[in-house]
Amino acid sequence: MRAVLLGPPGAGKGTQAVKLVEKYGVPQISTGDIFRANIKEGTELGKKAQEYTNSGRLVPDELVVELVKDRLMQDDCKNGYLLDGFPRTIFQAEELDKFLAEQGQKLDAVINFDIEGEVLIERLTGRRLCKDCGASYHIKFSPPKKEGVCDRCGGALEQRKDDTRETATDRLKVYEESTAPLIGYYSKTGALKNFDADQDKDVVFAEIVAEIGE
Ligand code: ADP
Ligand code: ADP
Ligand code: ZN
Repeated sequence: MRAVLLGPPGAGKGTQAVKLVEKYGVPQISTGDIFRANIKEGTELGKKAQEYTNSGRLVPDELVVELVKDRLMQDDCKNGYLLDGFPRTIFQAEELDKFLAEQGQKLDAVINFDIEGEVLIERLTGRRLCKDCGASYHIKFSPPKKEGVCDRCGGALEQRKDDTRETATDRLKVYEESTAPLIGYYSKTGALKNFDADQDKDVVFAEIVAEIGE
């Protein structure tokens, strides 16, 4: 299965990706995760991306597209993948289409997470991540058993730099301006599937599986 997870920051893309990876056995390709890993390691790419990710602006297309193409050429992607956070601009979507056409492939689904408003700010500002294993929590919606500690590995939970109210608000604006136009783009290709993402996460997951198939 080749699918794109499309939706605003905080929509639940990463949360659903974990469950979909397990069910369908294809890797999650999260450009946000790739940038954060590079920033942590202090690579050249990380140095270039940092100022954008910290302020909630998009990393320039030319830094993103080549990175994703290289990743999709790797062996573990040959039976499919879940793109999480890519494409985010019409240009990125067009480049992905060209790449797929060259390989004689197409997207099976664009899973659109339909949700907006204050609930997204609440999800983003309450998000916490394990600094050791990356597991994701929410202080209210999916709290760990012990505050600040990962259930899975005992690691410390931390907040992403860009999950403050101010930067989250900016990211939602960037989404509306640059990424929301992809809904129109993909509805023309027939790949778009809409889901109400303002529901319990197990309900969202069940609806996605019902649409995509077992
Ligand atoms: P995205 O990858 O789209 O930015 P995440 O999957 O990281 O979003 O979710 C953002 C936050 O909201 C996380 O803290 C997550 O635990 C929480 N969350 C995800 N899905 C739901 C849901 N259906 N209901 C309530 N909270 C959710
Ligand atoms: P979220 O979980 O809120 O959807 P991500 O983890 O996907 O956020 O992305 C975090 C940041 O990484 C973005 O604000 C942006 O700066 C950068 N980024 C991630 N993916 C892309 C992309 N496809 N194009 C440009 N910038 C990106
Ligand atoms: Zn952990």
